[in-house]
Amino acid sequence: MFVRHVLSALISGALGGQEPASEPAGDLREALTAISESELRATVEALVACGTRNTYSETEEGPRGVGAARRWLKARLDAVAATSGGRLLVEEQWFDLPGPRRGRRGGVAGLADAAAGGAALRGANVIATLRGTREPERIYVVGGHYDSRASDTYDVASDAPGANDDASGTAVVLELARVLAAVPLDATVVFACYTGEEQGLLGSIHHAQLLAEQKAQVAGMITNDIVGNSRGDDGQSEPGFLRVFSRSTPGSDAPSRQWARFAAEAMRLHVPELAPRLVFRLDRLGRGGDHRPFDERGVPALRFSEPHEAYTRQHQDLREEGGVRYGDVLEGVDFAYLQRVARANLATLFRAAQAPASPREVRVRGSGITVDLRWEAATSADLVGYEVMRRATTAPDWEERVWSGPATRVELALSADDYLYGVRAVDRDGWRSPVAAPRD
Ligand SMILES: [Zn+2]
Repeated sequence: MFVRHVLSALISGALGGQEPASEPAGDLREALTAISESELRATVEALVACGTRNTYSETEEGPRGVGAARRWLKARLDAVAATSGGRLLVEEQWFDLPGPRRGRRGGVAGLADAAAGGAALRGANVIATLRGTREPERIYVVGGHYDSRASDTYDVASDAPGANDDASGTAVVLELARVLAAVPLDATVVFACYTGEEQGLLGSIHHAQLLAEQKAQVAGMITNDIVGNSRGDDGQSEPGFLRVFSRSTPGSDAPSRQWARFAAEAMRLHVPELAPRLVFRLDRLGRGGDHRPFDERGVPALRFSEPHEAYTRQHQDLREEGGVRYGDVLEGVDFAYLQRVARANLATLFRAAQAPASPREVRVRGSGITVDLRWEAATSADLVGYEVMRRATTAPDWEERVWSGPATRVELALSADDYLYGVRAVDRDGWRSPVAAPRD
């Protein structure tokens, strides 16, 4: 089908078919209300109580070490799975760790001996998969890393509470699983607690690779890393903001960017107490996160982080020096802030999982007076049509939208040169997909 129309259509709205009302937010609102500050606190406290969660620390037994954390997470998710009517599947995803490099303080001597003895050094992500009810093959991943570190990346002995980096993000992941377990969502949501982040994103690289080998359709990924502190070392505090990192890329519009805009819109619509601050780069300068292996595979992937970081608490041995306390301790986490971050995740994932898949193969042609957009039909059963989006080339977010009905091609009397365009799919209930943009 092909629709030709003029500028007035963009101003006046509907072009064909019935435009659905805005999305129904009843169930979403209920889920947002269920996000619990005390649940988030309980998770962070339990992880801190493991003493250290260094990737190479004790994995097999006892209350201390990364293994104690892994067993606690698995048990919590198993308990949540029992409330899911069989939809939530929990697994430990084991993989070989690269041999540890000797730490500056010799903290891995025992590990080096183990490696010399031929013992395999292994780690495990804890993964919970909530199967979608209508389109289970479409997957969204939300992650945080449960490993922690002291000043030395390979120091397995010293305390490394990692309350904010990244028990905070792991707590968000668990709380989302708890709240969403009994909610029927169209698409699948995967809750991922990663290990090995501090030694080079080992767990998330393994997970992204596995999903790619399975040819999984991962439509979006978010990592929550350093999301619980509301006051930076510089004294700045903006507890009403969350940074949303998405990759800067050649060309005008990477898929990760559309995913970032989608998250920002979810927050504006449903979590007004936490404003998105879009940062158009993959991550903080010179730093890394578990979204990277996904982004590198073309999956739309974001990092959520607090607006002002406290570097006296990140990657620091617990100590006092010159009157300054160092270390990633529990007191550095603002649980009211963390609750808002969990809600931002929930709104984004809930909307994405209820919406149709984004349109595919969007193409744009045109001139200074006309723009011609076409795309492949989305396959969702309850799809009713599409919205065409437009913004100035310099604008960070979409500025105008027009309902274009069920057609998969539109021509508008607008400049193709001076604007960027995209298309999103809309279902019968009014849920809107992330925008798909043509490559230019
Ligand atoms: Zn981290």
